[in-house]
Amino acid sequence: MVRPRDAGLYCRLRVFLGLLSSMGDVDFMREALQLAGMAEAAGEVPVGALVVREGVIIGRGYNAPISKSDPSAHAEMQAIREAAQHIGNYRLTECELFVTLEPCSMCAGAIMHARIARVVYGAADYKTGACGSVLNLFAESRLNHHAEVTGGVLAEECGKVLSDFFAMRRKQQKAGIRNPESGLRAAGMDYED
Ligand SMILES: [Zn+2]
Repeated sequence: MVRPRDAGLYCRLRVFLGLLSSMGDVDFMREALQLAGMAEAAGEVPVGALVVREGVIIGRGYNAPISKSDPSAHAEMQAIREAAQHIGNYRLTECELFVTLEPCSMCAGAIMHARIARVVYGAADYKTGACGSVLNLFAESRLNHHAEVTGGVLAEECGKVLSDFFAMRRKQQKAGIRNPESGLRAAGMDYED
């Protein structure tokens, strides 16, 4: 039985959840951009990702291969791991993944293994993108999982974060600030130019 006081709380909760689920692709991409900022603050190539289920964020990640000494620590992988832990299941059916940069082939593979239903990305990656820029694994009929893919959401902003980052890196390198693990070999290399 729902008591009147509980009913008010329940009502407010429903409104709150409703607001969350009314978030669109652009809103979620803005959240992913915030995560890209966290990667940048840690000296990593700025890419951010999140996993959403029924309008609620259940996994967040940002690029961290340098700090974790882990070539698989792309933003998507981190977000997928967190989401799977959160629901206690490696299958993330009915989930959407938002990422600021087009996923690479490794991340596309993980997306397929996780059975993610939809992928939304920001900037295209013409050097390693596996959603149509270099190759399109999601259109490969011999693979058995086909997520719906939407590209180009806030593409300009997502790309600018990367190109600004590499411009700053070049400036630092010119000024003699050396970092052997510059991150230029990590995701987003095509934004060096
Ligand atoms: Zn990747």
